[in-house]
Parts: sequence; structure tokens; C-alpha cells
Amino acid sequence: MIPLSLPHIDGNEWQYVKECLDTGWVSSAGSYVNRFEEAVAKYVGSKFGVACMNGTSALHISLLLCGVKRRDYVILPNITFVASANSIKYTNADPIFIDVDPGTWQMDLDVLEQFLDRETVLENGQTLLKNSKRAIKAIMPVHVLGNICDLDRLMDIAKQFNLSIVEDSTESLGSLYKDRHSGTFGTLGCFSFNGNKIITTGGGGVIVTNDESLANRAKHLTTQAKISSSEYIHDAIGYNYRLVNVLAAIGVAQMEQLPNFISRKKHLDAFYRNELEGVGDLRFQEVEDEVNHNCWLFTMQTKRMRDLLQHLNENGVQSRPFWMPMNQLSMFTDDIYVTTSDHSACVYETALSIPSSVNISDQQLETVVRTVKSFF
Ligand SMILES: *Cc1c(COP(=O)(O)O)cnc(C)c1O
Repeated sequence: MIPLSLPHIDGNEWQYVKECLDTGWVSSAGSYVNRFEEAVAKYVGSKFGVACMNGTSALHISLLLCGVKRRDYVILPNITFVASANSIKYTNADPIFIDVDPGTWQMDLDVLEQFLDRETVLENGQTLLKNSKRAIKAIMPVHVLGNICDLDRLMDIAKQFNLSIVEDSTESLGSLYKDRHSGTFGTLGCFSFNGNKIITTGGGGVIVTNDESLANRAKHLTTQAKISSSEYIHDAIGYNYRLVNVLAAIGVAQMEQLPNFISRKKHLDAFYRNELEGVGDLRFQEVEDEVNHNCWLFTMQTKRMRDLLQHLNENGVQSRPFWMPMNQLSMFTDDIYVTTSDHSACVYETALSIPSSVNISDQQLETVVRTVKSFF
């Protein structure tokens, strides 16, 4: 079986982890945690990085830092991995799901803007939903598959309605919009280092921000909100969310390899697009000119998605459907979904991902292409 996406552990991971084990610095007090935060922040061009135990906890903390609380709303695209929406529910706020653009699969900004224009009022600097008078606090754009929406326009909308932006950049490490790194546009940006992301720590996350007080607050909340180094005095409900040194050590080694990983991902994206263009009814994700895409996971659309999925999996090519749209999940059916023609459902019914590991061989790439062609 050619796997969908495997981590690539081929640098200094063993050496750095061994150092943690040999010195006994295994937990979150070790120096690799700081080194990893600095490496990620520097790479994306942000002033501060705060390491978390995963991307979901990074999102949760970021929302808290934007003041999101019970009965507030946070806006996000209807197509995302479930953790984005869950992180909103953790704060006791509710999501407002916005349908996606059928070409780029990112939040549809026309739908977003129409919704805000028609359904909200601005009172005392706060955007409220007209019917319930509940506050909308933030927008969480999700850079789905490493692609990015029209961020200039989104930033303008956020400013006009006085909304914070927390970027779910969990899939977009290495992706740029107008030469600036994803995750650095919002008040805070969140990255994930789960096993299937572009680099991995096994599990991990980093919050990036240019705001020093927010960075300090993030570190405080992720480390049990302790205010004294010697005594057990705490000033908030904190969380045990900080990444541990052993995992951060893997992260430092992975960051060293990131540029190579991205060039390999770009190579396989170009290969697939070139070889599969015009095959059957296949269509690919559209990427705007302003976006430099990290090509994290190759995903394409066909009306015969279910049959192609089965054909590939039966013939040694691991393939996976896309996420079920949030409005279709049982936990979110009572939440607000804003759409004009439910493009989310169409993307869900037609999209599938094919093998995209960094270390996939050229021969395996050809096998994938041959197997797709043989179906059509
Ligand atoms: C991976 C992912 C997350 C969560 O990251 P974890 O590190 O797995 O907690 C959140 N949102 C999206 C879009 C993701 O792909």
C-alpha cells in the first residue's frame, strides 16, 4: 500500500531526543521547548511563539486571549477539520459556519460579508447578531490544505466589524500570502505538529503573535496560571497545555528539514497536476496568484469520488475522503450555517486526497497516477 501521508524522520531527531533522555530534561521545562518556539516564530516572521501540546489547545487558548466567552460567537468556514469548531465550543461560545468557495475550498468572503451586513448591528463597538443580541467576537479563517483565502479582504472585513482574527494555520506552515507567512495576519495564529502535518512532533502546536503581552498571557495560561516560581499560587483557571521537551526536540530537528519537505511537496503537487490534468472529470484546488501554497496534501475532485476512492484503496493506493462539512455533524446541527448554495456539500461529495508523503518515491508517484488513470 502506498500510504496517504507518513511523517519523515530523517534528521537530528534521534540525537536531540537522546540528549533530553540522557540529561533528564524530558518535561516542559527543558530548553528545546524554547528553541522550538523560537524556530517556528522566526521561520514565519513573528515576534513570539508559544508551544502547546497540540494545535487544538493552541486554538483554544488563542480564542480565550481574544476574550471569547460563553454565548459569544466565532465565525469559521464550514469545511475544516472538526478541531477548529470544537475549540470554539470549549470556550462555551458557538460557531457560525460560513460556506466555502467552490474553487479554493476556503471561506467564501461574499457569503461572510453579506451575512455581517444583513444580520448584525454594531453597538458600542461590538458586532451583535440582530435577533439575539449576542456578540460575534472573532473570525477563525482556516487555511484549508495550506491554501489561503483573500486575506487582505478578510482583514478589511474584520476591521470594519471590529472582530479579532485567530488564524487556524494548522495546515499552512510554509504557505504565504503576498510573501507574508500565514498565521501572522491575525491577532494570533496557530500551527499544528500532529503526525500527518507537514512537520511533526508526534503531537504539538505553536501559537504565534507579535503582541508580547498576549504571548506572555498564552504561556501563563498554558502552564497552570502560576504567579510565583516557588509557591503554588495561581490567578486564573489555567491549563496543562505546554509542549514537553522530548517532543519539542523532535520539532527542532523537523524545522531544520522543513524547506526540503516543502520543495518535495511542491514537486509532487506539480507532478500530479501535470499528469492528471484532463483525466476523466478531475479538478484541482484553485490557488489565487497571491498565494504561495505549501502543497501539504494533494486533494482533487471528481463526481465519481466514492468509486475512485474504492478503486484506489483496492489497488494499493491509500486514499481518503475529505472532512464531512461541520453543519452535517450531529453536534453542530443546531448551530448557524450561512450559505447560498451549499458548496460545502458538493466539495465533500467530490473531493479525495491521494498519497503525498515527503518520502514518496518517483516510482510510487507514477504508480498513483497509473492507478487513477486506469479507473477512468
Ligand atoms: C490538525 C488540525 C487541527 C488540530 O491540530 P491538532 O494538533 O491535531 O490538535 C485543527 N484544525 C485543522 C484545520 C487541522 O487540520
